[in-house]
Amino acid sequence: MQSNLTGFNMRPCSTVMHLLLRCMRRCCRHSHRHSRSRMARRLRQPVNYIRLIFKSLYFNSLTNSEVLLDCILEPVFWMVEVVTRWFGMVFVFLVVALTSSVVFIGYFCLLPLVLQTYSPGWMIWHICYGHWNLVMIVFHYYKATKTPPGYPPKTKNNDVPFVSFCKKCVIPKPARSHHCGICKTCILKMDHHCPWLNNCVGHYNHRYFFSFCLCLTLGCMYCSISGHSLFIDAYNAIDQFRHLEAEKQGVPVTGIGLLIGIVPSEGMAGKVVQVSQPPYTYKDRMFHKSVMYMWVLTSTVAVTLGALTLWHAVLITCGETSIERHINNKEAKRLAKRGKVYRNPFNYGKLNNWKVFFGVEKRSHWLTRVLLPSGHSPYGDGLTWDIYPLKKDMMQV
Ligand SMILES: [Zn+2]
Ligand SMILES: [Zn+2]
Repeated sequence: MQSNLTGFNMRPCSTVMHLLLRCMRRCCRHSHRHSRSRMARRLRQPVNYIRLIFKSLYFNSLTNSEVLLDCILEPVFWMVEVVTRWFGMVFVFLVVALTSSVVFIGYFCLLPLVLQTYSPGWMIWHICYGHWNLVMIVFHYYKATKTPPGYPPKTKNNDVPFVSFCKKCVIPKPARSHHCGICKTCILKMDHHCPWLNNCVGHYNHRYFFSFCLCLTLGCMYCSISGHSLFIDAYNAIDQFRHLEAEKQGVPVTGIGLLIGIVPSEGMAGKVVQVSQPPYTYKDRMFHKSVMYMWVLTSTVAVTLGALTLWHAVLITCGETSIERHINNKEAKRLAKRGKVYRNPFNYGKLNNWKVFFGVEKRSHWLTRVLLPSGHSPYGDGLTWDIYPLKKDMMQV
């Protein structure tokens, strides 16, 4: 009976305890969860606020990875613009100095040689071609640097149709115009800013720029090809001079080229070769060094500038500028995703593009306007553009 009573009293007690414990645990868990959610709620507000401030600095619906990359590279662009602006005259000086040095070598080293050793036919060819090329280079370089590329009107003109608005100049932009960060103005049919010209390449000097590149490439190729055998002779002669000089000082001469005197030779050790007079003069040495300098410089320029000229020739054939190639490629990709084909509105056909570019209006213009120096104005005013499709042949040539 005793044990029954104890059992009866103990059971409700343990049940109550159990209930109390469960209640406490739940309360504890609930308060913990509650405090955690309260903390998160409190934190969420400042985090959202900071995120909003950060997004307000750059976000718009058109932001993509390219815009972000441009933003990141903005300091680099700024540096390039500043350097190009400040060192513009240095680049021009370099072009003039290097070209003059080659011309100087041509007149004082090579021309006497041509007159003495070449047959009359080759003599006439070298004199005529060399001078034509020189005149073309000088004329087109001068015109490309001195001719303003063309600027859109600063005030709103209702007669000029515009396609966008320049945020920096605060003026409406006609078709094909772009803002140049170095010139700090908008340029008509802008191609690029050329540091070697210290000028922008645009509507009014694009032809001079291309002709200059083409003529300089041709001139460098001419020097490189016609001077190749002279370069080989000069290289061998300089090599020989080094041998003779080393022998003069009483050093046993071994090795070739840069290894003269370094590589030992069997049977030569200890022998001293005496040469009383060197069989070459200071003039000989300068002649050979000048030829080597000219060949290395012209060959390097021929390859690098040749590649650039070829690229510009491709762009002209397609009726595009360097900037438009980039824009058109993007547009073509965008339309391709929608199953459409992009057509450049300023592409008038391969031959027509060249005619428009050189301003060829009749057959004789190929000679007078392309192969000879000509200061004629380009086709159109750079503000309004004919849009494809036009009549089949723009100029009957
Ligand atoms: Zn502008
Ligand atoms: Zn510029």
